[in-house]
Amino acid sequence: MLSLDTPKSFSMSELTTTPRVLVVEDETLIREMVCLALQEQGHDVVVAIDGRAAFELLDEASKPGGKAFDLIILDIMLPHLNGLDLCRLLRHNGNTIPILILSAKASETDRVLGLEVGADDYLTKPFSMRELIARCRALLRRQNFTAALPSSMLQVGEVALFVDECRVTVRGEEVSLSPKEFRLLELFMNAPRRVWSREQLIEQVWGMDFIGDTKTVDVHIRWLREKLEADPSKPEYLITVRGFGYRFG
Ligand code: CA
Repeated sequence: MLSLDTPKSFSMSELTTTPRVLVVEDETLIREMVCLALQEQGHDVVVAIDGRAAFELLDEASKPGGKAFDLIILDIMLPHLNGLDLCRLLRHNGNTIPILILSAKASETDRVLGLEVGADDYLTKPFSMRELIARCRALLRRQNFTAALPSSMLQVGEVALFVDECRVTVRGEEVSLSPKEFRLLELFMNAPRRVWSREQLIEQVWGMDFIGDTKTVDVHIRWLREKLEADPSKPEYLITVRGFGYRFG
């Protein structure tokens, strides 16, 4: 069940500013416990009790002068607009804020669906506050790390990746990638022809604390192929190396 065993040793010194977190949860008890745990970590926490209220807050935050969020903790079963639809809508609008989904649904299908609509991580209820904080920390750290990379553009064949702008073009046309797809592609393009195992890809892109299986990698590769390859069934970029994993180019 829920517990308040938040790690007290967590240091925020690696993050340059106070992270601003939006917690979207209609169940009062869970919402309050999550907020308390995040506030104890020194986070600036804003709450929304349904999907539409969350969308309005995010819309406000994205306007000039708005105070941007660094992370969204999102329940799935919500009044007005459910978490999956909100996630889908945000990604469709080009919003790349890391999203951690909280859900009572534990089946693999639900988890994959959560990732498919563009969430970065998935936590099943009941969860411990310690795990929630660890996952938030990993997402914020990766976000911060990505933002600190020097400006550069990677190009392999007709695929160009603009690191700072989180933007990818294929054959001169802009393609829309989820944050995970982008990070996966960036990793591949930084080391063309290097063969990566599924486990290595999970470690690099999802982080050591990822709980799940290697099918997640295959699913993301399939989506990337659909976006990058002229013929996804005969990939020229994302090549399967039988018995080992994948390589790029
Ligand atoms: Ca709910």
